[in-house]
Amino acid sequence: MLDLKFIQENTEAVKENCRNRGVEADVDLVVELAGRRSALHQELNELRQQQNRLAKQVGRERDPENRERLITESRALKEKIPELERELQEVEGRLRAEQLEIPNMTHPDAPVGRDESENVEVRRWGEIPEFGFEPRDHVELGEALGIIDFDAGAKVAGSKFYFLRGDAVLLELGLVRYALDVVMRHGYHPTITPDLARDEMLIGTGFIPRGPETQIYSVENTDLSLIATAEITLAGTLAGEIVDESELPIRLAGISHCFRTEAGAHGRASRGLYRVHQFTKVEMFAFTAPERSDAMHEEMVGIEEEIFRGLEIPYRVVDICTGDLGGAAYRKYDLEAWMPGRDGFGEITSTSNTTDYQARRLQIRYRPDGGRPRLLHTLNGTALAVSRAMVALLENYQRSDGTVRLPERLVPYVGKEVVEPLT
Ligand code: AMP
Repeated sequence: MLDLKFIQENTEAVKENCRNRGVEADVDLVVELAGRRSALHQELNELRQQQNRLAKQVGRERDPENRERLITESRALKEKIPELERELQEVEGRLRAEQLEIPNMTHPDAPVGRDESENVEVRRWGEIPEFGFEPRDHVELGEALGIIDFDAGAKVAGSKFYFLRGDAVLLELGLVRYALDVVMRHGYHPTITPDLARDEMLIGTGFIPRGPETQIYSVENTDLSLIATAEITLAGTLAGEIVDESELPIRLAGISHCFRTEAGAHGRASRGLYRVHQFTKVEMFAFTAPERSDAMHEEMVGIEEEIFRGLEIPYRVVDICTGDLGGAAYRKYDLEAWMPGRDGFGEITSTSNTTDYQARRLQIRYRPDGGRPRLLHTLNGTALAVSRAMVALLENYQRSDGTVRLPERLVPYVGKEVVEPLT
């Protein structure tokens, strides 16, 4: 959420930012409602003062006729005050709802563009593999090996659910442990978070109100939703708190399942494990002082690169354009891995600096040396999203006989060198 005073003082810049990001928020209405709110506050203060004055006058007044008149006046005021209080409450509710729709401001260096076709490649790493045979995609490979079972997933929970079996289970656990080792070396504290969170945490992190991309499963008759990412639970751990500056930065690594309704995601580009309703992810989350968040963002993308270089998977880093940023991100980088099944790159990680956008909603502050509490900055980044990492691994490391050789770094984590058919 942007600061109201900032919106009032920079209305045109905020509107331009909404246009660049393709967001239809009503900035003028926010400014108008903010004006109405302060007018109502002022009116209510005056009425309350007037009422106090009248009450004193009634006490002092001897003349019965005058006293009666003052009492009638006081009654009229008494009726008006709750009316205005109701209006104030309504205006405050509308103001907050409209304010929540306004996206974060954007880093001046982020590319301006309408959609993902205008994202900008920053750098590339690795050699695109060449196969001496017709490579298969991960669905064919996984099904032939018997280690990914989409049919059983569909039977039990519907399409885009799956069972992992045999070596795919060892691979998931190995990938999580490998990613955790890398992020722990960079000071991230491992956590296993709840897979559900209260709506206030989803509002606080910007997943509610729901944009077209944030597709959340809610649990009926509760204020709980299944989390789309551990960003929600990790950010929530410090909601409403003030931390000392000396504790910053705080780096957390959260392991969780992630749930996404993915309404409208069909077609070959979303095939198999690439876009599913449930997957496991190791997520990095950091709380920093505002001056440190840009540097922390670069550090996070560097860690993601280290993870995929360790797996020897070719990738490119992409600077996400304004139209593809989502609500909370000030700047976002994605890593896209080479996926032979797509004959192209596919997103495997995403890291965002959300500046104070989430901290303002969640009221997470820090106390600078001896000073007054200030909002801190929050950042999130995928260390490893298992199902997409599996797509990249199976497809890049496949052999002509349909088995998959694992990259050296992963072997000790999985406990074997080759992914073999289920026996
Ligand atoms: P996001 O939180 O949307 O930035 O996603 C973080 C990472 O999770 C992405 O970079 C993907 O690797 C992975 N991911 C996102 N959505 C899905 C999905 N529906 N199925 C599988 N992996 C996903």
